Amino acid sequence: MSEKIKRFILPESEIPTQWYNIQADMVNKPMPPLNPATKQPLEPKDLYPIFAEELSRQELDQKNAWIDIPEEVREMYKYYRSTPLVRAYGLEKALGTPAHIYFKNESVSPVGSHKLNSALAQAYYCKKEGITNITTETGAGQWGAALSYAAKVFGLEAAVYQVKISYNQKPYRRSIMQTFGAQVTPSPSMSTRAGKDILTKDPNNQGSLGTAISEAVELAVSTPNCKYTLGSVLSHVTLHQTVIGLEAEKQMAMAGEYPDIVIGCFGGGSNFGGISFPFMRHNILEGKKTKFIAAEPASCPKLTHGVFQYDFGDVAGYTPLLPMFTLGHNFMPANIHAGGLRYHGAGVIVSQLLKDGYMSAVDIKQIESFEAGVLFAQAEGIIPAPESCHAIAAAINEANKCKESGEEKVILFNLSGHGLIDMAAYDQFLSGSLQNYEVTDEEVAKNLSELEKII
Ligand SMILES: *Cc1c(COP(=O)(O)O)cnc(C)c1O
Repeated sequence: MSEKIKRFILPESEIPTQWYNIQADMVNKPMPPLNPATKQPLEPKDLYPIFAEELSRQELDQKNAWIDIPEEVREMYKYYRSTPLVRAYGLEKALGTPAHIYFKNESVSPVGSHKLNSALAQAYYCKKEGITNITTETGAGQWGAALSYAAKVFGLEAAVYQVKISYNQKPYRRSIMQTFGAQVTPSPSMSTRAGKDILTKDPNNQGSLGTAISEAVELAVSTPNCKYTLGSVLSHVTLHQTVIGLEAEKQMAMAGEYPDIVIGCFGGGSNFGGISFPFMRHNILEGKKTKFIAAEPASCPKLTHGVFQYDFGDVAGYTPLLPMFTLGHNFMPANIHAGGLRYHGAGVIVSQLLKDGYMSAVDIKQIESFEAGVLFAQAEGIIPAPESCHAIAAAINEANKCKESGEEKVILFNLSGHGLIDMAAYDQFLSGSLQNYEVTDEEVAKNLSELEKII
C-alpha cells in the first residue's frame, strides 16, 4: 500500500508575497459605499478619519488585482504560516463517502483563528502611519484576541469593546486580550454617547456587534492618533485573508487535486472570502466550475433570508451605508444562539458575488452544527470553533450527497479556528440544553420595515 500524505505544508519561500483583490477581476463591481448624510459615493479620503489611509485605499481599490504584503507582516506570518492543508481521511471514513475532503487548518495561528492574518496587517499600517492607539469591537473575542496581540507586536495600545453577553459568558477570551495588554470594556458602556443612548433606553441591553462597533468608532474619531479596526465584513479584511486560499491553491496542487467545492463558514465573509476568492478567480477568468458555499447559522441568516440593499454597519448609524445582504442593522440575534457568526450583514464583495450567482449559501441549524463539530473532533482530533462547525456541517452534507451519487468530488473547507476556549458552548450541546432557533421571514420583514423609515 502506498503511503498516504495527510498534511501539506509550504516552505517559507512559498508563503504568498501578495494578497489577491478579487474586486479587480469582478465583472460587476460592488456598488460604492455612501456617505450617510449626503448619500454621495465615498472616496478613500472620506474613510481616513476612521481607518488607516492605506487600509482606506485597499477598501475601495477596484483596479489592482495583486497587492504586496509588507515585508514586516510577511515576517510575522512566518511564525505560523503556511497553515497545514489536511486530507480528512478520518472524517471521510466516518462518513463512508467517496469524496476527498480537505481542510485548511487556520486554528494553528497563535491566537487560534484566521483573524490574526488581518490583525497583523491592520496594526502594521496603523503603526507605519504614526497612529498610537487602535480601537475595535469583538463578539466572541477571537478578533479582540488577534488584534490585542497584533497591537502588542507593533507597539500600539488597543482598546476593545466586547459585546456584553460575551464579556460575561466568555471570561477567558477577555483574559486573553488583557494578557496581551489590551483594555477591554463591555459594550454597551457608559463611556460613549452611543453606549449611553442604548443603556438609558434599555438598561439590560446585552449588546451586539452593532452596538460595540458604534462605541469603538466613536472613540476612534474623537481621540487623536487613534484609528478603528474591524475583523470582518470590510473588503480590506477579506483581502488580507486571501493568504489562506492562495496557500491552499499551492497545497492542493501538491496533493495533485483541485477542489470541486469550496466551503467556509460565514459571519461577515472574511474567512469564506479568504479561502474562496483565489479559487473563484479561475471561475471568473477561465470559466472553471468550482462551487462555493457560504455556511451561515439559521439564527442569523442574512445570505439566505436577508435582502440586498444599502444598510448601516452598526446600530447607531455611524458607518457608511453599504450595499449588502442584510437582516437590518437593528437585528439582534437570539441570546440562545451559541455559535458566533452574529453579525447582521454581509461584506459588499460577497453580496455582489452572491447576487451574480458566483456562489451560494446554506443556513445551518445550531444543533446540526454542533453534531458536525463533535463528529469532526472524534474523527480528526481537533475541536473546531463553533463558527467553523457550520462549514463542517455543510461539507458533511456535500460529502453525503457524494455517497448517494457515488461521485468522488474534491471538497475543501476552511477550519477557521479551534474551539478550546468555547467549551461552554459544547457543554450546552452535550447536556442537551441547546435549542434550534430560526429567524422567520416575518421577523426579517419587520426589522427591514423599520429600516426603510431611516433611509
Ligand atoms: C470571527 C470568526 C468567524 C467569522 O468571521 P468571518 O469574517 O465571516 O470569517 C469564523 N470563524 C472564526 C473561528 C472566527 O473567529
